Amino acid sequence: MFKKLHKTAAVATEFEQQLRSVSLRVTQPRLAVLTAVNTHPHSDTDSIIASVRQKLPGVSHQAVYDSLHALTEAALLRKIQPSGLVARYESRVGDNHHHVVCRSCRRIDDIDCAVGDPPCMTPSDDHGFVIDETEVIHWGLCPDCAAAVQADADVIADPVTARTTSKIKIKNDS
Ligand SMILES: [Zn+2]
Ligand SMILES: [Zn+2]
Repeated sequence: MFKKLHKTAAVATEFEQQLRSVSLRVTQPRLAVLTAVNTHPHSDTDSIIASVRQKLPGVSHQAVYDSLHALTEAALLRKIQPSGLVARYESRVGDNHHHVVCRSCRRIDDIDCAVGDPPCMTPSDDHGFVIDETEVIHWGLCPDCAAAVQADADVIADPVTARTTSKIKIKNDS
């Protein structure tokens, strides 16, 4: 009943098996979406569409949306949406890992769960809920953005440099 797809790469076979394991039909858009997200974790929908179209030029936006929805529902993909950002997708599922988000450039990295059981992760009262996920997002500046801020601060700290580089916009007026 499955449309036969001719794939040679072992990774494609693995994605086909993933789809079958959750009783999803193997389709080209779903395989391409899985490949795109696996290659570029934490991608947003637009980036995924662009990536999928490199393989399947004719694929519609709707086909990608539908694939993302089906794959997320089936827990083959995880959708994350830090406050103020568009939804991102990743193929690292099932381990409830956390994320660190750069406030400046929006880079997102994975953070493994802290070893042990930090008290703040255990609700003082679960209100009778059966809790299966605890979302933790760390916010800050990535190394590149932190270095840029530090460079600005160095300019300010050095009046000579500040005078000679007055064309540089100093983002420290808050
Ligand atoms: Zn950054
Ligand atoms: Zn992640």
